[in-house]
Amino acid sequence: MTIARLARAEIRALQPYQAAQQVDDTVRLNANEAPWSSTAESFRRPLNRYPEIRPRALGELLARYFDCDARQLLVTRGSSEAIDLLVRAFCREGRDNIVTTAPTFSMYGHYAAVQGAEHRAVLTPEENGFALDIDALLDACDERTRLIFLCSPNNPTGAVLPRPALVELLERRGDRSAIVVDEAYIEFSDERSSVELLSRYRNLVVLRTLSKALAYAGARCGAVMGPVEVVRILNAIQAPYAMSTPVVECVEDALDNACLDEAHKSIGAIREERERLIAELIEFDVVEAVWPSAANFFLIRVADSDAVMRRCRDANILLRDFGGSLTGCIRITVGSQAENDRLLRCFQKLSGDAE
Ligand code: PMP
Repeated sequence: MTIARLARAEIRALQPYQAAQQVDDTVRLNANEAPWSSTAESFRRPLNRYPEIRPRALGELLARYFDCDARQLLVTRGSSEAIDLLVRAFCREGRDNIVTTAPTFSMYGHYAAVQGAEHRAVLTPEENGFALDIDALLDACDERTRLIFLCSPNNPTGAVLPRPALVELLERRGDRSAIVVDEAYIEFSDERSSVELLSRYRNLVVLRTLSKALAYAGARCGAVMGPVEVVRILNAIQAPYAMSTPVVECVEDALDNACLDEAHKSIGAIREERERLIAELIEFDVVEAVWPSAANFFLIRVADSDAVMRRCRDANILLRDFGGSLTGCIRITVGSQAENDRLLRCFQKLSGDAE
């Protein structure tokens, strides 16, 4: 048996929605569509027709890009949708739980709450550079832990889950839980994607998105990759025609070589700017700590985060501050060189205020 048995029994038995047949060059009177299109010139596929129920060519392109078999991948509306699909498929209301690290991306807990599943969070202390304690994580799991979400690089800390730690967790937890690695920011790191472990570990699920390094957040496109049986289950609960024709076409274009070359150059520039910002910010007295990051953002601790947020807001710069264990911490997304210079000028002024 596989982790697919952990999915809710009624979901495992669910048949995918049966869409009207789509055959090119036929008279299509089977789907209540309009027979004419006002947008025929703008798109390769006319908008009066429903898109494919699942975008096959795009799925194949993404599978090639992420380096897995197309049958191991489901195209989703951003990786947000993949998180929602996983929690709905695996967690029974009032019975099952998910385990995450803390601090981490809030959407795992959000969708657990929506589903009525318990959320157990295992603190990764800042003194240890937010490193994961595997024993603590395993201690938090029980027989009702269906999903373990690990974000690497982690939002908002920027910390990476080292490969040996992931492998240890995959082996020690076995098929009692699905272990979901969210790699939304992996392109900004030196790490290799854990997609390459899919053939070896049948309890692994990997999330990727086009929203970050490929700069397509507005298109809403991501992918969930995992065992074929899990992909089949998620496919059965995803909305029919989830990916719209304009999105499918624009993402197909994004995956051509010229666009990918462009994206790789931008990733390099963001990484350089990240290191420049970190090196310069740490010099300011108002900045107490800066954590290294493998993402397109990093976390700092300041003496007075309200003052920093206010000063930046007055300069029309938005940052993200946090409460809880991260009180006093601010997450800074790396912008363009000009935007980053503006931020640094703001910190210069803040340091002047403090003197
Ligand atoms: N995972 C992480 C760690 C994120 O930070 C985000 C967005 N902030 C997402 C997933 C979701 O992104 P999207 O739905 O745009 O793919």
